[in-house]
Amino acid sequence: MKSLLTSIGMAAVMLMSSVSWAAATITIVNGDPPGMGFNDPTAVAPVGGNSGTTLGAQRLNAFQAAASKWGATLDSGVTIRVLATWDALPCTETAAVLGSAGALEVFADFTQAPQRNAWFSKAETNKLIGFDADPATPDIRARFNVNLGQPGCFTGSPFYLGLDNNHGPNTDLVTVLLHEFAHGLGFQTYTDDQTGELLAGIPSIWDYFLLDTSTGKVWKDMSNGERATSAVKSGKLVWSGVQVTNAAQVVLRAGTPILTILAPPPVAGVIQVGTAAFGPPLGTPGLTGEVMPVVDTPPDLGLACAPLSAVNALAVRGRIALVDRGQCTFVIKVRNLQDAGAIGVIVVDNVDGAPPPGLGGADPGIHIPAVRVTLEDGLLLKQALARRTRTHSGLFANLGVNLAVRAGTDALGRVLMYAPRPNQPGSSVSHYDTSATPNQLMEPAINADLRHEVRPPYDLTFPLLKDIGW
Ligand SMILES: [Zn+2]
Repeated sequence: MKSLLTSIGMAAVMLMSSVSWAAATITIVNGDPPGMGFNDPTAVAPVGGNSGTTLGAQRLNAFQAAASKWGATLDSGVTIRVLATWDALPCTETAAVLGSAGALEVFADFTQAPQRNAWFSKAETNKLIGFDADPATPDIRARFNVNLGQPGCFTGSPFYLGLDNNHGPNTDLVTVLLHEFAHGLGFQTYTDDQTGELLAGIPSIWDYFLLDTSTGKVWKDMSNGERATSAVKSGKLVWSGVQVTNAAQVVLRAGTPILTILAPPPVAGVIQVGTAAFGPPLGTPGLTGEVMPVVDTPPDLGLACAPLSAVNALAVRGRIALVDRGQCTFVIKVRNLQDAGAIGVIVVDNVDGAPPPGLGGADPGIHIPAVRVTLEDGLLLKQALARRTRTHSGLFANLGVNLAVRAGTDALGRVLMYAPRPNQPGSSVSHYDTSATPNQLMEPAINADLRHEVRPPYDLTFPLLKDIGW
């Protein structure tokens, strides 16, 4: 058996409490010093089913609630130990690290491992071998932001410590804990998502399921460079495990806003879009039409920031207009194109990045649909549009909701993983994509509408853990 400590444990640990349920026992190990974090003596009123009377006690009760949920879901004969502390994590008025967690130690090539040459979290290793592989080390290390709600750190918006998910505008601690504990249980790769470098030369069990559909390779079969490239292929990086793929048919909603290129064959396929806050929402069967670019003619350079010239108006009349982002607002562009007779608009981003963000703005006078595509996808479309007449391109597209594609999957029903460009170290690759609908616990950011659920019919977290051997 190979093992590796992924982080350094803490001294002066005091065992506080354990929660025992049918399937697994999860113990919270309080690593905070006296008077701080879990030991904060500040008196507080009970809230949302949390009967603790000090801040520290309420924090611990929330941890126990999340531990109970995972304990009732998992199956392990070995107690799972979570070493937890409240620390000053990075934080500003508008952005905060709520918490972080990961496996303290990983193991590979033990007899009961379902896959050779793969790292498994300590908690999963213990489950598989039936005893604690390293009793001196807890399984999961969790850190939470002690300053949330204090001046300069989401001022006035602390964690909601109730257990009933009635969090209002605040961040629900139990939800964040369910998310972070999942990482600690194994919902992460130990491979570097920026450099593609394996941990000590061994792939993670995660890397056996992480598939790049543009190359057909899974991560464990790639070079470091191939992994680094793959980590930023938004829309192309999927989870190939059968448990998640099957559960997605139940959990994720049918229908995703998408640009479908119908012809010509070399560019036919689906393209991710960002949807507009103005104009009609995309629907089914959607809008089908021929795509024509706004010609780059001085002085407007094809940006549609002024009423279109006669030549440009002729080109886009009755067509889906393709226009570059820049120089004026989205609603001005779309309004000018609508006035010229366009039936829909594709805005091509002018900076690299993926997935494509939405189009902001408001104009009740706009009645044609508009979307944004990435700079990269836009360049491919422009190449396909290079040969055309003044009124025809031969490039036909549908702008609509594709009911055959679930929100958060690719066209073959495989769940998309978070692979933004540029890379977001620590978030990329080890979360579900943000297009998942309804929102999923393991998206990179915590959404306000999450339930305290980790499995179908609501959530895809536990199916992924089952794919990797839980
Ligand atoms: Zn996360």
